[in-house]
Amino acid sequence: MLMEISRLGRRSLKTAAAPVYRGLSVGRGLFDRFSGGRARVLILGYHHVVDDIDEAERLADPGMVVSTDSFRRHLQLICDNCEVVSMDEVVRIVRGERAIGHTVAAITFDDGYRDFLENAWPLLRVLRLPVTIYLPYAAIGAGRMLDHDRLSLLVASALRHGLSLSVPLTRAGLAEEEIDSLTERDDTFATARRLNDLPLARRELVCRSLEEFVGTGMGADTGPLALLDWDSITDLVREGVTIGAHTINHAVLPLEDGPTARFEVAHGKTLLEGRLGEAVRHFAYPTGRHDETTRRVVQRACFDSAVTTEALVNRPGANPLALGRICLSEESTRDIRGRYSDAVARLRLLI
Ligand SMILES: [Zn+2]
Repeated sequence: MLMEISRLGRRSLKTAAAPVYRGLSVGRGLFDRFSGGRARVLILGYHHVVDDIDEAERLADPGMVVSTDSFRRHLQLICDNCEVVSMDEVVRIVRGERAIGHTVAAITFDDGYRDFLENAWPLLRVLRLPVTIYLPYAAIGAGRMLDHDRLSLLVASALRHGLSLSVPLTRAGLAEEEIDSLTERDDTFATARRLNDLPLARRELVCRSLEEFVGTGMGADTGPLALLDWDSITDLVREGVTIGAHTINHAVLPLEDGPTARFEVAHGKTLLEGRLGEAVRHFAYPTGRHDETTRRVVQRACFDSAVTTEALVNRPGANPLALGRICLSEESTRDIRGRYSDAVARLRLLI
């Protein structure tokens, strides 16, 4: 399959402006009329690309994990149907500085997991596909997990041992009603996602209280949850990977007060640029959440683009600071038998 993709890659890039949607040509005119024409900008979002999908889906939120095999197939589908472009090019297109009459796609990764280097980058490099990784500055090289992973492991550990989360969450200062709504589903990853959706200061209290209650469990080398280090990132940049910002502490910006949001966005950009020695122009909203105030903060920090997690097609004229993005996981392309399906993948990736 890799050989097949390798052969296909450069040819597909050269013929990128060829008509798209070969497989869906029937009724294209009608489709184009309703969808506003063929000028479409798809932004695909990934987190983990892993060899052992079963292990990864146990440890990480399954919504963030795709197998190397599926990722390879995604790339083949994208190369067959789109021109793959950088985020700089996305900005040019939505600003109207470059006219297109076809579908383009940008490939992005959030959080900077180490498996990018091991599983995704070898495929992307062979195909010479542009890619952007959005990094939460403080977590890189710090030898610790991101809070959403920390929370997933802590909640899983508590549930596995039959411990009630209400004790540590009450100690962390959460009100009874808040705890009830946060933990209403007996689902590790749903609970962790809700606990992660707190302002930074409260989230840290929750993490610490849970750690005191159930123990920290895992060290810095956490398998599929481990992050890239700065040496690897420097090498990736040298090889052509674009680095974008993802705040300093993976802050859910609409939940933070003004000074904290500005610090996380603007100072995060400065820190990242200082570390990389080059301008950082692109931003991803942690958890995808944004509002008007947040977008203004990102604009004032002079980012050229910002991606959300709203699964929308972007068109020329779209707001570059609220770009839709199709976030993909193994689950995204499974059929009802739980197997990878090209038909489902086509619908999900090329919406
Ligand atoms: Zn993130």
